[in-house]
Amino acid sequence: MTITAAYKDGREQAKCVCDECKDHGLKPNEVFVTCMHGDRKAKPEFQNNKTIIQKLHKLGWKIYPKGVVCDVCMAKRKEKKVSKTNVTKIEPNRQPSREQKRDIMLMLQDVYSIDKQCYTKSETDKTVADALENGIMWGWVKTIREDMFGPDGNEDDQLSVGEAHLWVDRTDTHIADLETKIKSFEKQVADMNRTLANIQACRKEVKGFLDTIQKLAKQ
Ligand SMILES: [Zn+2]
Repeated sequence: MTITAAYKDGREQAKCVCDECKDHGLKPNEVFVTCMHGDRKAKPEFQNNKTIIQKLHKLGWKIYPKGVVCDVCMAKRKEKKVSKTNVTKIEPNRQPSREQKRDIMLMLQDVYSIDKQCYTKSETDKTVADALENGIMWGWVKTIREDMFGPDGNEDDQLSVGEAHLWVDRTDTHIADLETKIKSFEKQVADMNRTLANIQACRKEVKGFLDTIQKLAKQ
């Protein structure tokens, strides 16, 4: 049993001990999660306890039916997997097992906001599948998410959409500003043209007057 009921600092806690550390010759990593024991002392109940799942998920730990695995050992698993994936072939039309479906459900409860009808933060079907590993494909996450939770998208996407709206609004203000300036400039140009026409008319008049005087003087 890797998740057991424990008392620490005078509180009811769940003690989670990594199963794999000893395989690497290390002192097993352990995490204490404050949670009421109630009648949940039996391991299967502890495994489905949301507080524990969330805490472990945050720390990068994973919960498997056989036990929990710490973040350090998960990183080691990933390294191994990378070298293995080049060899393993993906069978088409593979279906998730009941256990895999339950894993997906549990993780979705953690990272999907029913209220907002989207994933929290930057989570996606793919990040859920990647986090769960255990051969889980993101297409299965998508199916279960669509069936039981809601549409795709996440909070970060919505943030970007919000930012884009802000930009459009700002640009609109600049455009209106420029339009006003152009109109005022057009008016100034028209005024200057009118003044020029007046000066030209005036010059013509004075020139005519001067010509007349010069003609009279010659006579
Ligand atoms: Zn470990």
